[in-house]
Amino acid sequence: MLVDELKSIVGTSGWTSDPDELLPHLTEWRDVFHGETLLMVSPGSTEQVSAVIRACAAGNTAVVPQGGNTGLCGGAIPDQTGQQVLLSLSRMNAIRCVSPNDFSMIVEAGCILADVQAAARQAARFFPLSLAAEGTCQIGGNLSTNAGGINVLRYGNARDQVLGLEVVLADGTIWNGLRGLRKDTAGYDIKHLFIGSEGTLGVITAANLRLYPEVRESQTAMIAVNSPQHAVDLLVELRGSLADQLQAFELIPSRAIRYLRRHMSALRMPFTDDYPWYVLLESSLGDDAQTLESALAAALEKRLGVDAVVAKNVSEQEGLWRIRHSISEVQKFEGVSLKHDVSVPLGKIGAFIEAAEAAVLKLMPDARIVAFGHIGDGNVHFNISQPKSWEGDRFREKAASLSNVVYEIVSSLQGSISAEHGIGQLKRELLKQYRGEEEIAVMKSIKAALDPGNILNPGKVL
Ligand SMILES: Cc1cc2nc3c(=O)[nH]c(=O)nc-3n(C[C@H](O)[C@H](O)[C@H](O)COP(=O)(O)OP(=O)(O)OC[C@H]3O[C@@H](n4cnc5c(N)ncnc54)[C@H](O)[C@@H]3O)c2cc1C
Repeated sequence: MLVDELKSIVGTSGWTSDPDELLPHLTEWRDVFHGETLLMVSPGSTEQVSAVIRACAAGNTAVVPQGGNTGLCGGAIPDQTGQQVLLSLSRMNAIRCVSPNDFSMIVEAGCILADVQAAARQAARFFPLSLAAEGTCQIGGNLSTNAGGINVLRYGNARDQVLGLEVVLADGTIWNGLRGLRKDTAGYDIKHLFIGSEGTLGVITAANLRLYPEVRESQTAMIAVNSPQHAVDLLVELRGSLADQLQAFELIPSRAIRYLRRHMSALRMPFTDDYPWYVLLESSLGDDAQTLESALAAALEKRLGVDAVVAKNVSEQEGLWRIRHSISEVQKFEGVSLKHDVSVPLGKIGAFIEAAEAAVLKLMPDARIVAFGHIGDGNVHFNISQPKSWEGDRFREKAASLSNVVYEIVSSLQGSISAEHGIGQLKRELLKQYRGEEEIAVMKSIKAALDPGNILNPGKVL
């Protein structure tokens, strides 16, 4: 029987069917998707992952890989049949090696992102992938969703941090592509197929990651601006004066600050006055704080911003970042929040936010828009909190029509309906709607070639 075979592959500490233990693995962070499973297995090695996949392929049983389960699209949640095997990578959490002189490290897929960063730091190197869920999400999940985060502006997405991968394919074959090459033009670069494929093409078991020189000093500043377009103009100006030292550039709306004041009053706000929008930026300028300050002073003189605060020490820097990292969390206290993780070309950010706000408020004048995020990358989390006086269910009933107008505007500006959280179950129909037939056909033929039995995370993405 498959269940017995799986239990014997992973050993007694490698599986569970205990409902209490399973609970946090069968629903996701927002509590939107719920699933059931035949068995949750947590293999301790690549060979065990391979044996699990081989057994499931032979039994024609679907496998759902799961990392830290912080994905927001239901990608890591099995369906409700109770017939799918949940494959947790969490026991595969070894840092296999750190090679400071190669500026690289090999880590297993189940390593928590914060642990990967810490291991790089210990070797006086920098691993730039950073996001609010970094204490829980795993590097395998980050790569499978091609995660973004706060440092994309300077270092790129998760995809850009990968030199090589080890992957278990749909028939259980182990592909060892952990080569640490920065240049390699020998044939198709197949690692990129698995990155961002949300567990539908293979199970990532380890990665050879790119490291960077340590960032010894960085400065953090918050700047009040009058509009998203001013924020983009400020970005263009500062990229001129600070060049690639500019590492992160985040937009924060006044509504988010009001939510934080209301529900997380222990957070210290840098400004006493209220402004309509804020930018939080990080710049790695060594200890030459003057350069950032003079760049900001010049920008303020050009009226690109109206006020600015530069953190004076690490504790103030952390305080400013806590404001940004608390925005996802604090929206929960204001009732149902409808999320749109979208991107548009940088120059169209201002037009997008303006048009989307107008269209949403026309449909629902009491809707409360919280548009924030990594605008240095053209990525906006365009979220809508339910009107204060409404019941959550009434708001949910209108969700589709609200989302529709947002996505239509994104599409008209040549943007993407998913900037960094992936497709999962949540945006499957949208993907079909907003990507052309040709592109979907290519995706389907890749899926059919790599997973002909459709056992890897079926029903996700496509
Ligand atoms: C508060 C908060 C803030 C966030 N901020 C950001 C952000 O700034 N940027 C961003 O990009 N995302 C963000 N996210 C979303 C989420 O953290 C990322 O998508 C993250 O990369 C998911 O990693 P995970 O380990 O939790 O993956 P999971 O949620 O477990 O899985 C995600 C997908 O990857 C697949 N998968 C997982 N591991 C593997 C593997 N080893 N092999 C193959 N497939 C696998 C799963 O099947 C699923 O389809 C945020 C989430 C939260 C809760």
